[in-house]
Amino acid sequence: MTKNHTVQKIKQGYVIDHLPAGKSRFILRLLDLYKSNYEVYTGRNVPSKKIERKDFLKIVGAEFSNVDFNRIALIAPNATVNRIENFEVAEKRRITIPRLVENIITCPNLNCITHVEPFMKTVFTYNDNTFICRFCEHRFGTDEVTFL
Ligand SMILES: [Zn+2]
Repeated sequence: MTKNHTVQKIKQGYVIDHLPAGKSRFILRLLDLYKSNYEVYTGRNVPSKKIERKDFLKIVGAEFSNVDFNRIALIAPNATVNRIENFEVAEKRRITIPRLVENIITCPNLNCITHVEPFMKTVFTYNDNTFICRFCEHRFGTDEVTFL
């Protein structure tokens, strides 16, 4: 456990840590936490030893799927995700960008049909640090990702 606790420990739930500063709001949206009734503690722009400034989230009593966790990797591939039981880290979850990314990110190609048809889902396959749009086959890297 890190000693860098600026809010209380939680008894049970998840701690998502080492998010680049400013990214926690994307995670809150991605995991639908604005709409949930979970008790959530957010740290924003907190000094960190590992990265200069970080955000973190502590979510009490939450359950997430592997799909949810892999979506976190789209926003913060180096995030730390720990499951907490009885105030201790019970499990460190590995997060990886999913191979199929649906309706989370936008296609950088402005001529892509997904920009013309507003109700169309975006679909990308991900492999070897490259996203490929299913519709226009445009390829782009993780540094070009923008969210819907
Ligand atoms: Zn496209």
